[in-house]
Amino acid sequence: MTQAKKQPNILFIMSDDHAAHAIGCYGSRINQTPHLDRIGGGGMRFDNCFCTNSICTPSRAAILTGTYNHINGVTTLATMMDNRLSTFPKLLQGAGYQTALFGKWHLGEGPRHNPTGFDEWAVLPGQGFYHNPTFIFPDGAGGGVKRTVPGYTTDLIADMCLDWLDRRDPAKPFCLLCHHKAPHRPWYPDEKHAGLFLNEEVPEPDTLQDDYRNRAQAAAAAAMRVGVHMNATDLKCELPDDMHEADLRRWAYQRYIKDYLRVVQSVDDNVGRLLDYLDAQGLAEDTLVVYTSDQGFFLGDHGWYDKRFMYEESLRMPLLMRYPQAIAPGSTNDDLVLNVDFPALFLDLAGVAAPTEMQGRSFRPLLAGSTPPDWRETMYYRYWMNAEHHNVAAHYGIRTQKHKLIYYYYDGCGQPGTAPPAGCIPLDFEPEWELFDLERDPHELKNVVRDPAYAGVFRELRDELHRLQAELGDTRHPSDVS
Ligand code: CA
Repeated sequence: MTQAKKQPNILFIMSDDHAAHAIGCYGSRINQTPHLDRIGGGGMRFDNCFCTNSICTPSRAAILTGTYNHINGVTTLATMMDNRLSTFPKLLQGAGYQTALFGKWHLGEGPRHNPTGFDEWAVLPGQGFYHNPTFIFPDGAGGGVKRTVPGYTTDLIADMCLDWLDRRDPAKPFCLLCHHKAPHRPWYPDEKHAGLFLNEEVPEPDTLQDDYRNRAQAAAAAAMRVGVHMNATDLKCELPDDMHEADLRRWAYQRYIKDYLRVVQSVDDNVGRLLDYLDAQGLAEDTLVVYTSDQGFFLGDHGWYDKRFMYEESLRMPLLMRYPQAIAPGSTNDDLVLNVDFPALFLDLAGVAAPTEMQGRSFRPLLAGSTPPDWRETMYYRYWMNAEHHNVAAHYGIRTQKHKLIYYYYDGCGQPGTAPPAGCIPLDFEPEWELFDLERDPHELKNVVRDPAYAGVFRELRDELHRLQAELGDTRHPSDVS
């Protein structure tokens, strides 16, 4: 393999809420994604890529800025990103890249929040719609103009990307961000995929009937159980009112997961269109293709949909990278890689210096199959919202290759938008710890924090958590005085 000789093109494809366990090359038991598998098969599959806050807006800010949310200020869904912050597209643009963004933004609207650092952009306002969406286009004066575009959103976003690629200057490298809305709730498939899985039973996850015993109170309090907390829009029909919860979960899971997988299929098709274009134009060799999602998602795991928790299915981001000049086909990596690392890697590959305020680290050596001896062995996570939307408690924690320690402090800490909406159960619990042995208990069903056999592990992880918080410039919750 030869060293990359010139700045790579970067095609960054990010979907919204696409869990790794609904991707073929991650061993999905429930669907097939031949085009996403082309990226993984032709490059590297990262098995331990994690977000630092499992919720859309904050993770997107971390991915663009390379900083944690307590630094970039985008802690909750109510804190929009200041578009004067340094981002990797802005830095690449300054280094001569052609840059563009099409699709979901979800980092705010208006002169202070619209996308910056892009030669061209068109974004969905907020979450956007699946059909006949409105897009915001730049008005040339820092603002935006809205226009409805007929069609299916996933196809339209890829259309815009392909159109821009066709019009770009081939003499310059490009950085194109293709940000799908799918497969975010409420999972409306297009006509072409509406019949997929129709007469099939999709395999259930092992933990669909989780009873939340042996966990912190946060797990049972979460209002995101499949069926129980879904509405008629989620399920495309009225919910039965005479079903036992176990049966309701099973019934609703089938309806939910089929629509989720149908909208994933459109993402996969459209990834295929972009890969075909790179092949046809002879660009595949010089282009880093990335596929990821802003966080993971519960696909009936623990009886849930949605994300937010530091549990595995929600914490893990799919990350597939193909770049023939630097990555061997069919390779995998299980080092701890984070969303905040993306900008440092892209800038490193482009030969552009990363600003010192960026906290992530370039994982370029990992692409070559070499893990630096001082690569991180622990990662820090913080979910700042408390009780909002799905009654999920605020928490922070760390994960290693073997263990996970979580501290639920049950406090909004004055964060914007953290007032519990009607219908939520107030989370007036005493703060509590959860410790999981990921090797013995990969589904995270048994909190061992009070098990004397884990007393030493608990102390070590708690100290490391506090060390990481200090290193990254975050502060402990006042109740965490240990
Ligand atoms: Ca998301």
